[in-house]
Amino acid sequence: MKVEPDLDNNFIDPEYVWSLIHKAAAASPADIREVLEKSKLKKGLSPYEVAILLENGDAELDKEIFETAREVKQATYGNRIVLFAPLYISNECVNRCRYCGFSAANNDMVRKTLNHEEIEAEVKVLEESGQKRLLLVYGEHPKLDAHFIADSVATVYKTVTGNGAIRRVNVNCAPLDVEGFKILKDAEIGTYQCFQESYHQPTYETMHLAGNKTNYLWRLQAMHRAQEAGIDDVGIGVLFGLYDYRFELIAMLLHAEELEKTFGAGPHTISFPRLEEAQGSDISIAPPYTISDYIFTRIVAITRLAVPYTGIIMSTRESTEMRNKLLQLGVSQISAASRTYPGAYSQAAEEQPESQQFCLGDHRSLDQVVFDLVEQGFMPSWCTACYRTGRTGEYFMSLAKDGFIQKFCLPNSIMTFKEYLEDYASPATKEVGELHLQKEMELCSEKGKVRVLKQIDKIIAGERDLFL
Ligand code: SAM
Ligand code: SF4
Repeated sequence: MKVEPDLDNNFIDPEYVWSLIHKAAAASPADIREVLEKSKLKKGLSPYEVAILLENGDAELDKEIFETAREVKQATYGNRIVLFAPLYISNECVNRCRYCGFSAANNDMVRKTLNHEEIEAEVKVLEESGQKRLLLVYGEHPKLDAHFIADSVATVYKTVTGNGAIRRVNVNCAPLDVEGFKILKDAEIGTYQCFQESYHQPTYETMHLAGNKTNYLWRLQAMHRAQEAGIDDVGIGVLFGLYDYRFELIAMLLHAEELEKTFGAGPHTISFPRLEEAQGSDISIAPPYTISDYIFTRIVAITRLAVPYTGIIMSTRESTEMRNKLLQLGVSQISAASRTYPGAYSQAAEEQPESQQFCLGDHRSLDQVVFDLVEQGFMPSWCTACYRTGRTGEYFMSLAKDGFIQKFCLPNSIMTFKEYLEDYASPATKEVGELHLQKEMELCSEKGKVRVLKQIDKIIAGERDLFL
């Protein structure tokens, strides 16, 4: 694969990003409140308005930002939280990213690429715990080309156990060329996910020391190529801790704007990895720009206001406490019971520092996460209906903006939750879950309730994979 970016399309202008931040520093409390009022309309915010919120230094006004994020989150997503698990297919990598345990420079890493049978074994364990959505993760290596990735996706879809099946496979792999992305599209991947790590080119260049990933523009334009190949659900992100978070967040929103302008839909999801300790990485132990829990909370809340209909993903890099707090303020998807090395789920060992990508902050089982979500009033969801009925990309965004999420997503999440309660829940989770399910049912319209009750009867009778 030739790495040939479009040299004329660098849509992140650092001077422009800084000019927004500097101008916003002069904003008054009245300006901040005006932006908050606008965000309640759920039409999103401009990068300058985001800069105004980011530049606020007043703790009382921050409380108003958090409260507004809570309101907007509730109005757009209700109580639903979508659950998934990462599945590491390979930790072989020829790149040298200074923050990552899989870097080729890390000679202590035990390298492993799963074969067909090993992928099957991993998927079975995940299915038997109740997972329905996976994110496949790969290092960058000549043998991990688009065909290899497509074959591994096919193996995942083909592996079924009892009522267990993976219904959506998202992919986080190195950026491909358009031909490569077409191969992933044909493999029926859900979201293609790739994080820019840093939108600040000089920082990017000091962090990536070898391999294709040294090419900033090639990565920056990855989602353009994915869209060109027909993959219209794409997920972006920044690795927080490498550079100034204000610059990174505004640049990421400019990336989202660029995708919306060019392809009619912004990113389907935004992820918020924060630098975690990784084997062999000094940078990960002493990040150049430490992001405190408080700043991280502000970043998530402000993003919720900036792009109300874009999914916000939080992984198990973060602690249970942090994740619980961020669920209230904006997060709509979380991974659960994750392991971050190839073969981890079908092996007994809890953690293997010599082969995992980074250290985890949340070690709960899926059942425990589900129980805790319910106890906090959330509705666990494994819904995959939109993707499977073609409601993706621009079409999904237009529907989402018209209150569709409440009308379709709530009933669909109830059905997937009922499946979980029937097939996988512990007695304690089943008990609290059934009660919660009744409460959620009351939030459906009268017509919706009748439809859902009919489907629930079918689930109790043994039917699976029902959706609207
Ligand atoms: N190799 C592909 C790539 O680099 O895009 C995909 C897999 S890579 C393991 C997925 C993501 O992990 C990276 O994009 C990066 O943001 C994140 N990551 C790497 N090292 C990390 C660390 N120490 N802490 C938190 N996230 C990390
Ligand atoms: Fe390889 Fe990705 Fe890790 Fe970089 S972040 S070393 S490309 S796996």
